[in-house]
Amino acid sequence: MRLHTAHGSIAARRIVYATGYHSHRYLKNDGGSLHCTYAVASEPLRSFAGWPGDSLIWETARPYFYARQTADVRAIIGGQDTLFSSDHQREGFIERKTAALVRRFARLFPAIYFEPACAWAGTFDESPDGLAYIGQVPHRPSAYFAIGYGGNGITFSAIASRLITDFYLGRPNDDVAVFRFER
Ligand SMILES: Cc1cc2nc3c(=O)[nH]c(=O)nc-3n(C[C@H](O)[C@H](O)[C@H](O)COP(=O)(O)OP(=O)(O)OC[C@H]3O[C@@H](n4cnc5c(N)ncnc54)[C@H](O)[C@@H]3O)c2cc1C
Repeated sequence: MRLHTAHGSIAARRIVYATGYHSHRYLKNDGGSLHCTYAVASEPLRSFAGWPGDSLIWETARPYFYARQTADVRAIIGGQDTLFSSDHQREGFIERKTAALVRRFARLFPAIYFEPACAWAGTFDESPDGLAYIGQVPHRPSAYFAIGYGGNGITFSAIASRLITDFYLGRPNDDVAVFRFER
């Protein structure tokens, strides 16, 4: 393999593609579909009154909603996905979605005043079963893919690092079937 970059080229026996939703161009069919998702962090809160412990809350209804606490006593909330990949760039979208998320939070936790400190959004790619794709494809035999589709890509990235190490070293790993492209 030879990788060409803006700063020169690199020779390698194997390559790992961790290129997120840009991966469509390297794959014949990855089954993903692009959406936008939205998140808001609060200013530090006075209390987490009514919150069950320090649990991460994930409501699977549609539109889904999640909430979690941070070490500096904030809440991060998110969800309110929209259908198209660039919706978040449209005027007023992040503001409207922030207001909807804050309203949802207020219904769940009426005793907590949530003042938004920062809101952001981005495109993300979702696979039909919500799982990442980690593994190899027949048309790129020297490559491994670590594609964290879905809303839990941070967790999948840790799994991908272990799986790809095992692929490379030829070690068996029970998770291969869970994340393979042909599932
Ligand atoms: C608003 C928002 C909130 C989210 N919240 C959470 C959360 O709380 N927890 C969670 O687990 N997940 C969350 N996610 C999802 C998470 O961000 C993704 O699942 C995860 O980032 C996917 O990881 P990835 O490595 O597959 O792709 P990415 O993180 O998209 O990384 C791909 C990288 O590859 C680069 N790239 C692409 N093509 C090339 C190329 N040819 N050469 C070099 N570089 C290239 C891109 O620039 C990018 O930096 C959230 C997503 C959004 C948008």
